[in-house]
Amino acid sequence: MNEYALIRDILEKSSYTVAMCGTDMMKESGMPSLRAPEIAYQVEKEYGYSPEEIFSSVFYTNRTEVFFDYYRKYMLMPPLKPSEGFYALAELEKRGKLQCTIANNVHNLPGRAGCRKILNLHGTIYDNECPRCGKAYSMEYVRDSRKVPLCGQCMAAIRPKVLLFGEQVDNQMMTNAVSEVAKAEVLLLLGTSINSGLCDGYVQYFQGSTMIIINAAEHFMDEKADIVIREEVKTALPKIVWQDGKRPENTEDRDMTGKDGTEG
Ligand SMILES: [Zn+2]
Repeated sequence: MNEYALIRDILEKSSYTVAMCGTDMMKESGMPSLRAPEIAYQVEKEYGYSPEEIFSSVFYTNRTEVFFDYYRKYMLMPPLKPSEGFYALAELEKRGKLQCTIANNVHNLPGRAGCRKILNLHGTIYDNECPRCGKAYSMEYVRDSRKVPLCGQCMAAIRPKVLLFGEQVDNQMMTNAVSEVAKAEVLLLLGTSINSGLCDGYVQYFQGSTMIIINAAEHFMDEKADIVIREEVKTALPKIVWQDGKRPENTEDRDMTGKDGTEG
């Protein structure tokens, strides 16, 4: 039995499977890391500040126009398309073989590929709210507004409900993620390593039988996993989910708005 068939078998028998989607799955979907040196350099040159400085609550509050200029350019454009790895996850969930997906990308890539039970630890760009009256606004409203997107009712600057640099993951969200990992019989770490920022603090609660890592990059801590596949998720996971390794052509995006992907 090859590795893919072995994992397929493990997932088939698992009573509760949880997947964690790391930053490499985002890169596979076309999103460069904001911490990548070339991006940081470009941002510094353009604004005179680092991405960490601009994408912060200090800038949202005090330099709101700069914040939104950056936000539109680097977070909302260009629109990302979920990689094949996310579609494979959605298929697993549809078959009842995946109970929860935990992600820290703000583009709700799992939701846009069709996953339903998702914990977006860092929130999503699709969720925007007036901090004063609580009115909800769409991503398109924020994207298409000039300069600062304002609430139509009270003229306050709309707050994208995404985690900014220096902010902590919402407590309830963290508790939910810990409880999902603790419940899992099988844990899939996808495009991430055990000691990454995403997994740090969660993996320690895993008490199931099998931890599987699919990640092209190598990390020595990963030896703690039961199975490690050194390959990109977008090629490996489809081979596990579909015998021929390919998503059937009629599997379309179930939800392109990205809404209702998070659990309440
Ligand atoms: Zn308002």
